[in-house]
Amino acid sequence: MSNLSTNMTTTDVGTTTTDVGMTTTDVGTTTTDVGTTTTDVSITTTDVGMTTTDVSMTTIDANIINPAKESAKSKKSRIEPMANLTSSYMKQFLFIDLSNGQIERVPVPELLYDDYIGGKGFGARILYDRLAPGIDALGSDNLLMFMTGPLTGTIAPAMRGCVVTKSPLTGIFLDSYFGGSFSPEIKYAGYDGIIITGRAEKPSWIWIDNEIVEIRSATGLWGMDSLKTNHAIKEELGDDTVKIATIGQAGENGVLFSLICCEYNRQAGRGGAGAVMGSKNLKAVAVRGTRSVKISDYQAFEKAHQKALVELEKSAEVEALRIAGTASAVEYANETGLLPNRNYKNGTFAKASDLADTGQRKHLWLGASACMGCPIRCSKMGAVRLGKYKGIVTDIVEYESAALMGSNLDISDVRAVAHLVKLCDLFGMDSMSTGGVIGFAMEACENGLLKNYSIPESVDLSFGSVKGAEYIIRSIANQDNKLGKLLAKGVKKAAQALGGNAEDFAMHTKGLETPGWGPRGASGMGLAYMTTDRGGCHQRGFPISYEVAGVPWKGKILDPLSPCDKADMVASLQNYSAGTDTLVKCDFGSFGISAATYAEMVSAATGRKISPEIITETGERIWNLVRLFNLREGIDSSKDTLPPRFVREALPDGPASGHSITEKDMLYMKQEYYRVRGWSKDGIPLHDTLKRLRIRHEQNNENESGAA
Ligand code: SF4
Repeated sequence: MSNLSTNMTTTDVGTTTTDVGMTTTDVGTTTTDVGTTTTDVSITTTDVGMTTTDVSMTTIDANIINPAKESAKSKKSRIEPMANLTSSYMKQFLFIDLSNGQIERVPVPELLYDDYIGGKGFGARILYDRLAPGIDALGSDNLLMFMTGPLTGTIAPAMRGCVVTKSPLTGIFLDSYFGGSFSPEIKYAGYDGIIITGRAEKPSWIWIDNEIVEIRSATGLWGMDSLKTNHAIKEELGDDTVKIATIGQAGENGVLFSLICCEYNRQAGRGGAGAVMGSKNLKAVAVRGTRSVKISDYQAFEKAHQKALVELEKSAEVEALRIAGTASAVEYANETGLLPNRNYKNGTFAKASDLADTGQRKHLWLGASACMGCPIRCSKMGAVRLGKYKGIVTDIVEYESAALMGSNLDISDVRAVAHLVKLCDLFGMDSMSTGGVIGFAMEACENGLLKNYSIPESVDLSFGSVKGAEYIIRSIANQDNKLGKLLAKGVKKAAQALGGNAEDFAMHTKGLETPGWGPRGASGMGLAYMTTDRGGCHQRGFPISYEVAGVPWKGKILDPLSPCDKADMVASLQNYSAGTDTLVKCDFGSFGISAATYAEMVSAATGRKISPEIITETGERIWNLVRLFNLREGIDSSKDTLPPRFVREALPDGPASGHSITEKDMLYMKQEYYRVRGWSKDGIPLHDTLKRLRIRHEQNNENESGAA
């Protein structure tokens, strides 16, 4: 790709041998020698027109990460190092400042391992410590972090990757997960995570070849979709096996719900991490790693690994995923009245089976596929064989896409939905948020609110119109008309800009478009949306499994419509979710793998003994820390709420017909939830809660957080 290599000057700054330190870490009563590591730190940078490029590696500034100096620890939750210090952690982050070309490798502070384990935990702590309150999520100061976990790159089943940043869509914390093989490659290159800050002067991409790191010109890539970018970089490198995370045109154009595409078909979808990447003038990150991830106690690890495989085999939910992926959930959601239809007005869709595995098997699927090393193989590869969209190569249409781009828009042709989702993937836009935005726009059109938006007469924006949906997708991605510019901001901001009654049917919580599970038939799901750390999200605990599927919670069958008994369940599920997100596991793996087995695998891999209780406590610590972050960014209790439609309009169909989650229900659940969490009536973590969880927070937030 000669067009990519023009104007490149390679500056070899040589090889320096650096001792990353004999670090003695005080963990209360134990002194831990984390060893001495000699590291080849040869770094190559490519001049892409930066005014200053400091690539010195003679000093490594550990303060870049600003390790948390937690207070004294209780014995209960301390992660005890084992005698053998070999570990699946790589013990360093790669830090890249695109503004000045600074590239450093930074030792991971022991306390980060102790109290935050990995993935979401690392990202949350660093974001809290490093970001000044109120910074522009699309400004150069925001951090974009690709984080791994202690099991990433091992043979532990069903692992994923994790991006953490401040969301431009919601203005609060964002963690977004992706499958595939990009994340293991970060470990194989020698890093526990990549932390990117600053903004490149010109379009750039980062090439990480083990310890060699380059910032290359992406001028020739700018404007390409995610798939073409992936191909072009592989061609430029002459290597088909490198792993690539890239943005499409949406990320370049600042669409607030743009995503990062990892490999061809795995996306860090929610919350706009792609827009953060685009704001940094960063088109892609390509990684090649040839190191191995070491295991502390291989025999114990293999035993735990076998246990995990058996647990997965025994799980009925996992078996269902293996057969039909998430597509099987379409029929379930329809039968239970939770499937969104016509911008969530309804909870059922007469043609649901056309979008479910039945329809997808008939029209799309050719075989199964999986993320690296995953035995569940929940994904499918397929192609549209007949009709207008013939020739499109497609993945499974996941439940959320089928619900939000299909039933929610009154579109039942699964081939058309596959086409719309594929467009989103190529442009690099979250198909969930995009579906929500299109549903909002179609209702706004119905209500006569889009008259000033110069919609061509040939475009029908009513529900059911595939052409209308495609017009909106292209308008948003390309930002070439007034409607696209309005909708690229997401439902919340678009509704505020439109005025009239638009906010009455703007389906979001804290700016994140509502997932494909209407909560009026499951109050606990509503509480989860109200309180989730990244905005309305179904993946930080999924109460529907208990409320609607009838699985007892702590021995009790719950009434799905009642606000009672939901707070403890939701908080517990969130804690466990945040705890296991430090492992960067796939949610579907945790349908089968028990907490005890996760803990055994982590202990054996890292040489740090952890228990299920420590995983959950770590999750609770992270949840509270993220709450402090979000409070600092301006949220308050009034934002812990549901879209008006779920509150004021009773569900017209399905088993929960006639039900809504009233203001009274919301208030009751919210106060119960705050009480269970150890927060004030205003939703602020109390001093005792922070102390119990050993959460350090800045002095100037002590009053705000209730700490004395
Ligand atoms: S269950 Fe599916 S999404 Fe999860 S890791 Fe396995 S293949 Fe990937």
